[in-house]
Amino acid sequence: AHTLRLILGDQLNLQHSWFQEVDEGVCYVMAELHSETGYVRHHIQKIVGFFLAMRHFAAELEKQGHRVIYFKLGESGADDFTGLIKHMVAELKPQRFEYLLPDEYRLDQALAALDGELGIPVAAADTEHFLSPRDGVARFFKGKKTYLLESFYRDMRKQYGILMEEDGVSPLTGQWNYDQDNRKKLPQKQDIPKPLHFRRDVSDIVNLIREAGVETIGHIDLEYFYWPVTREECLELLAHFARIQLHLFGTYQDAMTDRGYLLFHSKLSFAMNTKILHPLEVVNTCVSYWEGHQDKVGISQIEGFVRQIIGWREYMRGIYWAKMPEFAGLNYFEHHAPLPDWYWTGDTKMKCLSTAIGQSLDHAYAHHIQRLMVTGNFALLLGVSPDELDEWYLGIYMDAIEWVEITNTRGMSQFADGGIVGTKPYVSSANYIHKMSDHCSSCAYHHKEKTGHMACPFNSLYWDFYDRHAGRLGKNPRIGMMYRVWEKMDAGQKEDILKQAAYYKENANQL
Ligand code: FAD
Repeated sequence: AHTLRLILGDQLNLQHSWFQEVDEGVCYVMAELHSETGYVRHHIQKIVGFFLAMRHFAAELEKQGHRVIYFKLGESGADDFTGLIKHMVAELKPQRFEYLLPDEYRLDQALAALDGELGIPVAAADTEHFLSPRDGVARFFKGKKTYLLESFYRDMRKQYGILMEEDGVSPLTGQWNYDQDNRKKLPQKQDIPKPLHFRRDVSDIVNLIREAGVETIGHIDLEYFYWPVTREECLELLAHFARIQLHLFGTYQDAMTDRGYLLFHSKLSFAMNTKILHPLEVVNTCVSYWEGHQDKVGISQIEGFVRQIIGWREYMRGIYWAKMPEFAGLNYFEHHAPLPDWYWTGDTKMKCLSTAIGQSLDHAYAHHIQRLMVTGNFALLLGVSPDELDEWYLGIYMDAIEWVEITNTRGMSQFADGGIVGTKPYVSSANYIHKMSDHCSSCAYHHKEKTGHMACPFNSLYWDFYDRHAGRLGKNPRIGMMYRVWEKMDAGQKEDILKQAAYYKENANQL
Protein backbone atom coordinates (compact mmCIF):
# COMPACT_ATOMS: atom_id res chain seq x y z
CA ALA A 1 0.00 0.00 0.00
CA HIS A 2 1.24 3.51 -0.75
CA THR A 3 -1.11 5.08 1.82
CA LEU A 4 -2.30 3.91 5.19
CA ARG A 5 -5.50 5.54 6.43
CA LEU A 6 -6.92 5.29 9.94
CA ILE A 7 -10.66 5.44 10.66
CA LEU A 8 -11.78 5.92 14.27
CA GLY A 9 -14.93 4.41 15.76
CA ASP A 10 -16.83 7.69 15.63
CA GLN A 11 -15.86 8.46 12.02
CA LEU A 12 -18.26 6.18 10.20
CA ASN A 13 -19.17 8.62 7.44
CA LEU A 14 -19.73 6.60 4.26
CA GLN A 15 -20.31 9.78 2.26
CA HIS A 16 -16.82 11.06 3.03
CA SER A 17 -14.75 12.01 -0.03
CA TRP A 18 -12.13 9.39 0.93
CA PHE A 19 -14.52 6.62 0.00
CA GLN A 20 -15.87 7.95 -3.26
CA GLU A 21 -13.18 6.28 -5.33
CA VAL A 22 -11.60 2.90 -4.88
CA ASP A 23 -7.79 2.99 -4.85
CA GLU A 24 -6.05 -0.31 -4.32
CA GLY A 25 -2.98 1.46 -3.05
CA VAL A 26 -4.92 2.77 -0.07
CA CYS A 27 -5.27 0.54 2.94
CA TYR A 28 -7.80 1.48 5.63
CA VAL A 29 -7.30 0.34 9.18
CA MET A 30 -9.87 0.12 11.96
CA ALA A 31 -9.37 -1.39 15.39
CA GLU A 32 -11.21 -2.21 18.60
CA LEU A 33 -8.69 -1.19 21.25
CA HIS A 34 -8.36 -1.38 25.01
CA SER A 35 -7.39 2.28 25.18
CA GLU A 36 -10.89 3.09 23.95
CA THR A 37 -12.84 0.58 26.02
CA GLY A 38 -10.88 1.53 29.12
CA TYR A 39 -10.52 5.35 29.35
CA VAL A 40 -13.72 5.31 31.40
CA ARG A 41 -16.11 2.56 32.50
CA HIS A 42 -18.57 2.45 29.61
CA HIS A 43 -22.08 1.09 29.43
CA ILE A 44 -21.96 -2.39 27.91
CA GLN A 45 -24.48 -1.33 25.22
CA LYS A 46 -22.23 1.55 24.24
CA ILE A 47 -19.21 -0.67 23.59
CA VAL A 48 -21.34 -3.21 21.74
CA GLY A 49 -22.97 -0.44 19.69
CA PHE A 50 -19.66 1.12 18.67
CA PHE A 51 -18.05 -2.21 17.77
CA LEU A 52 -21.07 -3.34 15.77
CA ALA A 53 -21.30 -0.05 13.92
CA MET A 54 -17.58 -0.21 13.13
CA ARG A 55 -17.82 -3.78 11.89
CA HIS A 56 -20.76 -3.00 9.63
CA PHE A 57 -18.97 0.05 8.32
CA ALA A 58 -15.80 -1.93 7.52
CA ALA A 59 -17.89 -4.60 5.78
CA GLU A 60 -19.62 -1.93 3.70
CA LEU A 61 -16.29 -0.41 2.63
CA GLU A 62 -15.03 -3.85 1.61
CA LYS A 63 -18.20 -4.47 -0.34
CA GLN A 64 -17.49 -1.29 -2.26
CA GLY A 65 -14.04 -2.63 -3.13
CA HIS A 66 -11.88 -0.78 -0.58
CA ARG A 67 -9.04 -2.55 1.14
CA VAL A 68 -9.71 -2.68 4.89
CA ILE A 69 -7.82 -4.26 7.75
CA TYR A 70 -10.09 -4.68 10.77
CA PHE A 71 -8.87 -5.79 14.17
CA LYS A 72 -11.39 -7.14 16.64
CA LEU A 73 -10.68 -6.56 20.32
CA GLY A 74 -7.40 -8.23 21.27
CA GLU A 75 -6.37 -9.05 17.68
CA SER A 76 -4.03 -6.16 16.93
CA GLY A 77 -1.64 -6.61 19.81
CA ALA A 78 -1.58 -2.82 20.22
CA ASP A 79 -2.79 -0.99 23.32
CA ASP A 80 -3.60 2.29 21.64
CA PHE A 81 -3.63 4.06 18.29
CA THR A 82 -0.03 5.20 18.51
CA GLY A 83 1.12 1.62 18.96
CA LEU A 84 -1.21 0.39 16.26
CA ILE A 85 -0.05 2.86 13.63
CA LYS A 86 3.64 2.35 14.35
CA HIS A 87 3.14 -1.37 14.00
CA MET A 88 1.15 -1.03 10.75
CA VAL A 89 3.70 1.33 9.21
CA ALA A 90 6.51 -1.11 9.99
CA GLU A 91 4.51 -3.96 8.50
CA LEU A 92 2.96 -2.41 5.38
CA LYS A 93 5.69 0.17 4.64
CA PRO A 94 3.32 2.80 3.22
CA GLN A 95 4.66 6.05 1.81
CA ARG A 96 2.08 8.14 3.66
CA PHE A 97 -0.09 7.99 6.74
CA GLU A 98 -3.43 9.82 6.80
CA TYR A 99 -6.12 10.15 9.42
CA LEU A 100 -9.37 12.03 9.89
CA LEU A 101 -9.28 14.82 12.47
CA PRO A 102 -10.43 13.33 15.78
CA ASP A 103 -13.18 15.01 17.76
CA GLU A 104 -11.51 14.17 21.03
CA TYR A 105 -8.66 16.24 22.38
CA ARG A 106 -6.79 13.19 23.72
CA LEU A 107 -6.74 11.46 20.33
CA ASP A 108 -6.08 14.68 18.47
CA GLN A 109 -2.90 15.14 20.49
CA ALA A 110 -1.86 11.52 20.18
CA LEU A 111 -2.25 11.39 16.41
CA ALA A 112 -0.71 14.80 15.81
CA ALA A 113 2.33 13.59 17.76
CA LEU A 114 2.88 10.86 15.15
CA ASP A 115 3.95 13.50 12.65
CA GLY A 116 7.72 13.26 12.51
CA GLU A 117 7.80 9.94 14.32
CA LEU A 118 6.85 7.60 11.53
CA GLY A 119 9.52 8.56 9.01
CA ILE A 120 6.84 9.17 6.36
CA PRO A 121 4.58 12.17 5.67
CA VAL A 122 1.54 12.39 7.92
CA ALA A 123 -1.61 14.27 6.92
CA ALA A 124 -4.97 14.88 8.59
CA ALA A 125 -8.22 15.39 6.69
CA ASP A 126 -11.51 16.86 7.82
CA THR A 127 -14.30 14.43 8.76
CA GLU A 128 -16.74 16.38 6.57
CA HIS A 129 -19.38 15.98 9.23
CA PHE A 130 -19.88 19.21 11.15
CA LEU A 131 -21.51 22.32 9.79
CA SER A 132 -19.01 24.70 11.34
CA PRO A 133 -15.23 24.42 11.54
CA ARG A 134 -13.46 23.45 14.77
CA ASP A 135 -12.66 27.06 15.52
CA GLY A 136 -15.99 28.42 14.24
CA VAL A 137 -17.42 29.20 17.67
CA ALA A 138 -14.13 30.62 18.95
CA ARG A 139 -14.00 33.01 16.03
CA PHE A 140 -17.68 33.90 16.24
CA PHE A 141 -17.42 34.93 19.90
CA LYS A 142 -13.91 36.38 19.86
CA GLY A 143 -13.45 38.70 22.85
CA LYS A 144 -16.72 37.76 24.57
CA LYS A 145 -16.96 36.16 28.02
CA THR A 146 -20.30 34.44 27.58
CA TYR A 147 -21.01 32.62 24.35
CA LEU A 148 -24.67 33.18 23.58
CA LEU A 149 -26.15 30.19 21.75
CA GLU A 150 -28.94 32.20 20.18
CA SER A 151 -26.70 34.46 18.12
CA PHE A 152 -24.62 31.53 16.88
CA TYR A 153 -27.78 29.59 16.05
CA ARG A 154 -29.23 32.42 13.98
CA ASP A 155 -25.99 32.68 12.08
CA MET A 156 -26.13 28.96 11.28
CA ARG A 157 -29.74 29.28 10.09
CA LYS A 158 -28.65 32.05 7.71
CA GLN A 159 -25.51 30.29 6.53
CA TYR A 160 -27.36 27.12 5.64
CA GLY A 161 -30.66 28.75 4.64
CA ILE A 162 -32.66 26.56 7.02
CA LEU A 163 -36.22 27.71 7.80
CA MET A 164 -35.44 31.05 6.17
CA GLU A 165 -37.44 33.42 3.97
CA GLU A 166 -36.25 33.84 0.41
CA ASP A 167 -34.28 36.97 1.31
CA GLY A 168 -31.92 34.68 3.22
CA VAL A 169 -31.80 36.92 6.30
CA SER A 170 -35.27 36.72 7.89
CA PRO A 171 -36.59 33.61 9.61
CA LEU A 172 -39.69 31.93 8.18
CA THR A 173 -42.77 33.29 9.98
CA GLY A 174 -40.72 36.24 11.28
CA GLN A 175 -39.83 34.50 14.53
CA TRP A 176 -36.46 32.83 15.20
CA ASN A 177 -37.20 30.81 18.29
CA TYR A 178 -40.30 29.03 19.59
CA ASP A 179 -38.88 27.78 22.85
CA GLN A 180 -41.62 29.52 24.84
CA ASP A 181 -44.36 27.50 23.07
CA ASN A 182 -42.76 24.20 23.99
CA ARG A 183 -42.06 22.62 27.38
CA LYS A 184 -45.45 21.16 28.32
CA LYS A 185 -46.12 18.48 30.90
CA LEU A 186 -47.30 15.16 29.45
CA PRO A 187 -51.03 14.65 30.05
CA GLN A 188 -51.98 11.20 31.39
CA LYS A 189 -54.18 10.62 28.36
CA GLN A 190 -51.43 11.40 25.86
CA ASP A 191 -50.33 8.23 24.06
CA ILE A 192 -46.61 7.67 23.79
CA PRO A 193 -45.35 6.03 20.59
CA LYS A 194 -43.48 2.77 20.91
CA PRO A 195 -39.74 3.30 20.30
CA LEU A 196 -38.39 1.79 17.08
CA HIS A 197 -36.12 -1.07 18.12
CA PHE A 198 -33.91 -3.22 15.90
CA ARG A 199 -33.40 -6.75 17.05
CA ARG A 200 -29.98 -8.38 17.10
CA ASP A 201 -28.31 -11.21 18.96
CA VAL A 202 -25.11 -9.88 20.49
CA SER A 203 -23.98 -12.83 22.63
CA ASP A 204 -20.71 -13.27 20.69
CA ILE A 205 -19.59 -9.70 20.94
CA VAL A 206 -20.58 -9.45 24.60
CA ASN A 207 -18.59 -12.62 25.31
CA LEU A 208 -15.58 -11.16 23.56
CA ILE A 209 -15.80 -7.99 25.66
CA ARG A 210 -16.27 -9.90 28.90
CA GLU A 211 -13.51 -12.39 28.18
CA ALA A 212 -11.16 -9.52 27.43
CA GLY A 213 -11.79 -8.31 30.97
CA VAL A 214 -13.30 -4.96 29.99
CA GLU A 215 -15.10 -3.40 32.94
CA THR A 216 -18.54 -2.13 32.03
CA ILE A 217 -21.70 -0.73 33.59
CA GLY A 218 -25.38 -1.13 32.76
CA HIS A 219 -27.54 -3.93 31.43
CA ILE A 220 -27.89 -5.64 28.09
CA ASP A 221 -30.25 -8.23 26.65
CA LEU A 222 -28.02 -10.61 24.73
CA GLU A 223 -30.74 -11.62 22.32
CA TYR A 224 -32.24 -8.22 21.81
CA PHE A 225 -29.81 -5.39 21.17
CA TYR A 226 -31.96 -2.68 19.68
CA TRP A 227 -29.80 0.33 18.73
CA PRO A 228 -29.42 1.09 15.01
CA VAL A 229 -25.87 0.35 13.85
CA THR A 230 -26.02 0.29 10.04
CA ARG A 231 -26.64 3.20 7.71
CA GLU A 232 -29.99 1.68 6.64
CA GLU A 233 -31.15 1.30 10.23
CA CYS A 234 -30.12 4.83 11.12
CA LEU A 235 -32.00 6.17 8.10
CA GLU A 236 -35.02 4.12 9.13
CA LEU A 237 -34.89 5.61 12.62
CA LEU A 238 -34.70 9.10 11.13
CA ALA A 239 -37.73 8.49 8.91
CA HIS A 240 -39.60 6.99 11.86
CA PHE A 241 -38.87 10.04 13.99
CA ALA A 242 -40.09 12.47 11.32
CA ARG A 243 -43.29 10.50 10.81
CA ILE A 244 -44.17 9.45 14.34
CA GLN A 245 -42.56 11.82 16.84
CA LEU A 246 -41.65 15.14 15.27
CA HIS A 247 -45.15 16.60 15.54
CA LEU A 248 -44.90 16.54 19.35
CA PHE A 249 -41.14 16.84 19.74
CA GLY A 250 -41.11 20.43 20.96
CA THR A 251 -44.30 20.24 22.98
CA TYR A 252 -43.08 17.43 25.24
CA GLN A 253 -39.35 17.98 24.92
CA ASP A 254 -38.99 18.75 28.62
CA ALA A 255 -41.63 16.35 29.96
CA MET A 256 -40.67 13.41 32.17
CA THR A 257 -42.73 10.33 32.96
CA ASP A 258 -42.55 6.80 34.34
CA ARG A 259 -44.55 5.67 31.31
CA GLY A 260 -41.76 5.43 28.76
CA TYR A 261 -38.09 6.19 28.33
CA LEU A 262 -38.11 8.02 25.02
CA LEU A 263 -41.36 9.99 24.60
CA PHE A 264 -41.02 12.19 21.49
CA HIS A 265 -37.23 12.33 21.41
CA SER A 266 -35.42 11.09 18.33
CA LYS A 267 -32.68 8.92 19.86
CA LEU A 268 -30.58 9.98 16.86
CA SER A 269 -27.57 11.15 18.86
CA PHE A 270 -25.72 7.83 18.53
CA ALA A 271 -26.30 7.75 14.77
CA MET A 272 -25.01 11.30 14.45
CA ASN A 273 -22.13 11.10 16.91
CA THR A 274 -20.73 8.05 15.11
CA LYS A 275 -21.22 10.13 11.93
CA ILE A 276 -23.32 7.41 10.30
CA LEU A 277 -25.86 10.18 9.74
CA HIS A 278 -24.90 13.70 8.72
CA PRO A 279 -26.54 16.51 10.72
CA LEU A 280 -27.69 18.21 7.54
CA GLU A 281 -29.43 15.10 6.24
CA VAL A 282 -31.18 14.75 9.60
CA VAL A 283 -32.32 18.37 9.51
CA ASN A 284 -33.28 18.31 5.81
CA THR A 285 -35.31 15.11 6.18
CA CYS A 286 -37.27 16.62 9.05
CA VAL A 287 -37.72 20.01 7.37
CA SER A 288 -39.01 18.26 4.21
CA TYR A 289 -41.43 16.25 6.28
CA TRP A 290 -42.64 19.42 7.96
CA GLU A 291 -43.04 21.14 4.58
CA GLY A 292 -45.28 18.36 3.36
CA HIS A 293 -47.27 18.02 6.59
CA GLN A 294 -47.81 21.50 7.95
CA ASP A 295 -51.30 20.56 9.01
CA LYS A 296 -49.77 17.99 11.38
CA VAL A 297 -46.37 19.42 12.34
CA GLY A 298 -46.24 22.97 13.67
CA ILE A 299 -43.38 25.41 13.13
CA SER A 300 -42.50 25.31 16.83
CA GLN A 301 -41.81 21.56 16.60
CA ILE A 302 -39.49 21.71 13.63
CA GLU A 303 -37.76 24.88 14.81
CA GLY A 304 -37.11 23.30 18.22
CA PHE A 305 -35.58 20.24 16.60
CA VAL A 306 -33.46 22.19 14.12
CA ARG A 307 -32.12 24.35 16.97
CA GLN A 308 -30.84 21.30 18.86
CA ILE A 309 -28.84 20.11 15.90
CA ILE A 310 -27.52 23.10 13.99
CA GLY A 311 -27.52 25.19 17.17
CA TRP A 312 -26.65 23.32 20.35
CA ARG A 313 -24.74 20.46 18.83
CA GLU A 314 -22.44 22.61 16.70
CA TYR A 315 -22.10 25.18 19.45
CA MET A 316 -20.98 22.60 22.03
CA ARG A 317 -18.38 21.25 19.65
CA GLY A 318 -17.07 24.74 19.07
CA ILE A 319 -16.89 25.43 22.81
CA TYR A 320 -14.93 22.21 23.24
CA TRP A 321 -12.24 23.24 20.78
CA ALA A 322 -12.22 26.81 22.02
CA LYS A 323 -11.69 25.82 25.65
CA MET A 324 -9.87 22.49 25.80
CA PRO A 325 -7.75 21.31 27.52
CA GLU A 326 -8.42 23.81 30.38
CA PHE A 327 -12.14 23.08 30.26
CA ALA A 328 -11.67 19.56 31.63
CA GLY A 329 -10.29 20.95 34.88
CA LEU A 330 -12.78 23.76 35.56
CA ASN A 331 -14.55 23.65 38.91
CA TYR A 332 -16.01 27.11 39.51
CA PHE A 333 -17.89 26.18 42.70
CA GLU A 334 -15.01 24.10 44.06
CA HIS A 335 -17.27 21.11 44.48
CA HIS A 336 -15.59 17.98 45.77
CA ALA A 337 -18.32 15.70 47.19
CA PRO A 338 -18.34 12.12 45.94
CA LEU A 339 -21.09 10.95 43.62
CA PRO A 340 -23.67 9.00 45.66
CA ASP A 341 -23.29 5.24 45.20
CA TRP A 342 -26.80 4.91 43.85
CA TYR A 343 -25.88 6.76 40.66
CA TRP A 344 -24.42 3.37 39.67
CA THR A 345 -27.49 1.31 40.65
CA GLY A 346 -30.56 3.56 40.56
CA ASP A 347 -31.29 2.43 44.08
CA THR A 348 -32.70 5.59 45.67
CA LYS A 349 -36.12 6.44 47.07
CA MET A 350 -36.29 9.59 44.96
CA LYS A 351 -38.54 8.58 42.09
CA CYS A 352 -37.24 11.05 39.52
CA LEU A 353 -33.67 9.92 40.12
CA SER A 354 -34.42 6.20 40.27
CA THR A 355 -36.33 6.52 36.99
CA ALA A 356 -33.64 8.54 35.20
CA ILE A 357 -30.78 6.39 36.46
CA GLY A 358 -32.70 3.12 36.08
CA GLN A 359 -33.47 3.80 32.45
CA SER A 360 -29.90 4.96 31.82
CA LEU A 361 -28.67 1.59 33.08
CA ASP A 362 -31.32 -0.26 31.04
CA HIS A 363 -31.15 1.71 27.81
CA ALA A 364 -27.90 3.72 27.90
CA TYR A 365 -30.24 6.63 27.28
CA ALA A 366 -31.90 9.48 29.11
CA HIS A 367 -33.32 12.54 27.45
CA HIS A 368 -31.98 16.03 27.87
CA ILE A 369 -34.12 17.19 30.78
CA GLN A 370 -33.47 14.02 32.73
CA ARG A 371 -29.73 14.61 32.31
CA LEU A 372 -29.95 18.33 33.05
CA MET A 373 -32.71 18.77 35.62
CA VAL A 374 -32.63 15.43 37.43
CA THR A 375 -29.20 13.77 37.58
CA GLY A 376 -27.24 16.94 36.79
CA ASN A 377 -29.31 19.25 38.97
CA PHE A 378 -29.15 16.93 41.95
CA ALA A 379 -25.38 16.47 41.71
CA LEU A 380 -24.90 20.23 41.50
CA LEU A 381 -27.09 20.88 44.55
CA LEU A 382 -25.20 18.22 46.44
CA GLY A 383 -21.83 19.69 45.45
CA VAL A 384 -20.47 16.67 43.59
CA SER A 385 -17.02 16.92 42.05
CA PRO A 386 -17.37 17.61 38.31
CA ASP A 387 -14.59 15.07 37.67
CA GLU A 388 -16.67 12.26 39.14
CA LEU A 389 -19.74 13.45 37.36
CA ASP A 390 -18.00 13.66 34.00
CA GLU A 391 -16.86 10.09 34.38
CA TRP A 392 -20.42 9.00 35.02
CA TYR A 393 -21.89 10.85 32.03
CA LEU A 394 -19.04 9.84 29.75
CA GLY A 395 -19.56 6.19 30.57
CA ILE A 396 -23.26 5.69 30.81
CA TYR A 397 -24.73 7.13 27.62
CA MET A 398 -24.71 5.60 24.19
CA ASP A 399 -23.99 9.01 22.68
CA ALA A 400 -21.29 10.06 25.14
CA ILE A 401 -18.21 11.31 23.38
CA GLU A 402 -16.14 13.83 25.25
CA TRP A 403 -16.67 16.86 22.98
CA VAL A 404 -20.40 16.82 23.61
CA GLU A 405 -20.45 15.17 27.03
CA ILE A 406 -18.04 17.46 28.86
CA THR A 407 -19.41 20.70 27.45
CA ASN A 408 -22.90 19.69 28.48
CA THR A 409 -21.87 18.35 31.87
CA ARG A 410 -19.24 20.80 33.12
CA GLY A 411 -20.59 23.70 31.16
CA MET A 412 -24.32 23.61 30.80
CA SER A 413 -25.24 21.37 33.72
CA GLN A 414 -22.67 22.11 36.44
CA PHE A 415 -21.74 25.73 35.63
CA ALA A 416 -18.21 24.58 36.44
CA ASP A 417 -17.02 26.88 33.65
CA GLY A 418 -18.31 29.86 35.62
CA GLY A 419 -20.63 30.93 32.82
CA ILE A 420 -19.23 30.31 29.34
CA VAL A 421 -22.07 28.08 28.18
CA GLY A 422 -24.84 29.32 30.44
CA THR A 423 -25.64 32.61 32.10
CA LYS A 424 -26.79 30.92 35.31
CA PRO A 425 -26.70 27.44 36.85
CA TYR A 426 -29.52 25.05 35.98
CA VAL A 427 -30.78 24.28 39.47
CA SER A 428 -34.31 23.75 40.69
CA SER A 429 -36.23 22.56 43.71
CA ALA A 430 -38.85 19.79 43.56
CA ASN A 431 -41.27 22.34 42.20
CA TYR A 432 -39.87 22.12 38.67
CA ILE A 433 -39.73 18.33 38.70
CA HIS A 434 -43.30 18.16 39.91
CA LYS A 435 -44.37 20.60 37.22
CA MET A 436 -42.71 18.68 34.39
CA SER A 437 -43.20 15.06 35.46
CA ASP A 438 -45.51 12.49 36.99
CA HIS A 439 -42.77 11.23 39.34
CA CYS A 440 -43.60 13.16 42.51
CA SER A 441 -47.03 11.63 42.98
CA SER A 442 -45.54 8.15 43.44
CA CYS A 443 -42.37 9.23 45.28
CA ALA A 444 -41.54 8.30 48.87
CA TYR A 445 -40.64 11.95 49.54
CA HIS A 446 -43.01 14.91 49.67
CA HIS A 447 -42.32 17.40 46.95
CA LYS A 448 -43.86 20.30 48.82
CA GLU A 449 -41.92 19.91 52.04
CA LYS A 450 -38.58 21.54 52.72
CA THR A 451 -37.96 20.04 56.16
CA GLY A 452 -39.04 16.94 58.03
CA HIS A 453 -37.88 13.39 57.50
CA MET A 454 -39.80 12.83 54.25
CA ALA A 455 -39.12 16.24 52.71
CA CYS A 456 -37.89 16.06 49.14
CA PRO A 457 -34.10 16.49 49.27
CA PHE A 458 -34.17 18.81 46.27
CA ASN A 459 -35.86 21.50 48.37
CA SER A 460 -33.43 22.04 51.22
CA LEU A 461 -30.43 21.35 49.00
CA TYR A 462 -31.67 24.02 46.61
CA TRP A 463 -31.57 26.73 49.24
CA ASP A 464 -28.35 25.38 50.67
CA PHE A 465 -26.78 25.70 47.22
CA TYR A 466 -27.76 29.36 46.93
CA ASP A 467 -26.76 30.07 50.49
CA ARG A 468 -23.29 28.57 50.22
CA HIS A 469 -22.62 30.26 46.87
CA ALA A 470 -23.98 33.72 47.67
CA GLY A 471 -20.52 35.16 47.09
CA ARG A 472 -20.36 33.79 43.56
CA LEU A 473 -23.99 34.14 42.50
CA GLY A 474 -25.52 36.92 44.59
CA LYS A 475 -24.63 39.60 42.08
CA ASN A 476 -25.88 37.68 39.05
CA PRO A 477 -28.86 39.73 37.79
CA ARG A 478 -30.61 36.58 36.59
CA ILE A 479 -30.60 35.11 40.09
CA GLY A 480 -30.99 38.15 42.34
CA MET A 481 -34.67 37.45 42.90
CA MET A 482 -33.98 34.06 44.49
CA TYR A 483 -31.63 35.72 46.98
CA ARG A 484 -34.30 38.19 47.93
CA VAL A 485 -36.74 35.34 48.64
CA TRP A 486 -34.08 33.60 50.73
CA GLU A 487 -33.20 36.75 52.65
CA LYS A 488 -36.84 37.38 53.49
CA MET A 489 -37.32 33.92 54.99
CA ASP A 490 -37.47 33.81 58.74
CA ALA A 491 -34.18 33.03 60.45
CA GLY A 492 -35.49 29.91 62.21
CA GLN A 493 -36.82 28.49 58.97
CA LYS A 494 -33.57 29.19 57.18
CA GLU A 495 -31.68 27.40 59.90
CA ASP A 496 -33.98 24.37 59.70
CA ILE A 497 -33.57 24.20 55.94
CA LEU A 498 -29.78 24.36 56.16
CA LYS A 499 -29.78 21.68 58.87
CA GLN A 500 -31.94 19.46 56.74
CA ALA A 501 -29.60 19.98 53.79
CA ALA A 502 -26.57 19.20 55.95
CA TYR A 503 -28.22 15.95 57.04
CA TYR A 504 -28.94 14.97 53.43
CA LYS A 505 -25.41 15.82 52.34
CA GLU A 506 -23.92 13.70 55.10
CA ASN A 507 -26.23 10.80 54.30
CA ALA A 508 -26.29 11.11 50.53
CA ASN A 509 -25.77 7.40 49.99
CA GLN A 510 -28.94 6.59 51.95
CA LEU A 511 -31.32 8.85 50.06
P1 FAD B 1 -33.30 14.74 20.87
O1 FAD B 1 -33.98 15.31 22.03
O2 FAD B 1 -34.12 13.99 19.89
O3 FAD B 1 -32.53 15.94 20.13
C1 FAD B 1 -32.08 15.82 18.80
C2 FAD B 1 -30.59 16.00 18.69
O4 FAD B 1 -30.20 17.29 19.07
C3 FAD B 1 -29.76 15.06 19.55
O5 FAD B 1 -29.63 13.80 18.96
C4 FAD B 1 -28.46 15.81 19.66
O6 FAD B 1 -27.62 15.50 18.57
C5 FAD B 1 -28.87 17.27 19.56
N1 FAD B 1 -28.83 17.90 20.88
C6 FAD B 1 -29.87 18.18 21.69
N2 FAD B 1 -29.45 18.82 22.80
C7 FAD B 1 -28.12 18.93 22.69
C8 FAD B 1 -27.11 19.49 23.52
N3 FAD B 1 -27.38 20.08 24.68
N4 FAD B 1 -25.84 19.41 23.10
C9 FAD B 1 -25.53 18.83 21.94
N5 FAD B 1 -26.44 18.29 21.11
C10 FAD B 1 -27.71 18.35 21.48
N6 FAD B 1 -25.45 14.66 24.02
C11 FAD B 1 -24.65 13.80 23.39
O7 FAD B 1 -24.78 13.59 22.19
N7 FAD B 1 -23.65 13.15 24.06
C12 FAD B 1 -23.45 13.32 25.39
O8 FAD B 1 -22.56 12.72 25.97
C13 FAD B 1 -24.31 14.22 26.09
N8 FAD B 1 -24.15 14.42 27.42
C14 FAD B 1 -24.98 15.27 28.08
C15 FAD B 1 -24.78 15.49 29.44
C16 FAD B 1 -25.59 16.36 30.13
C17 FAD B 1 -25.36 16.62 31.60
C18 FAD B 1 -26.63 17.04 29.45
C19 FAD B 1 -27.51 18.01 30.16
C20 FAD B 1 -26.83 16.82 28.09
C21 FAD B 1 -26.02 15.96 27.38
N9 FAD B 1 -26.18 15.74 25.99
C22 FAD B 1 -25.33 14.89 25.35
C23 FAD B 1 -27.17 16.49 25.20
C24 FAD B 1 -28.55 15.81 25.03
O9 FAD B 1 -29.06 15.48 26.29
C25 FAD B 1 -28.49 14.58 24.14
O10 FAD B 1 -27.91 14.93 22.90
C26 FAD B 1 -29.86 14.00 23.85
O11 FAD B 1 -30.51 13.68 25.04
C27 FAD B 1 -29.75 12.79 22.95
O12 FAD B 1 -30.99 12.16 22.77
P2 FAD B 1 -31.83 12.30 21.42
O13 FAD B 1 -31.00 11.92 20.26
O14 FAD B 1 -33.10 11.56 21.61
O15 FAD B 1 -32.09 13.86 21.39
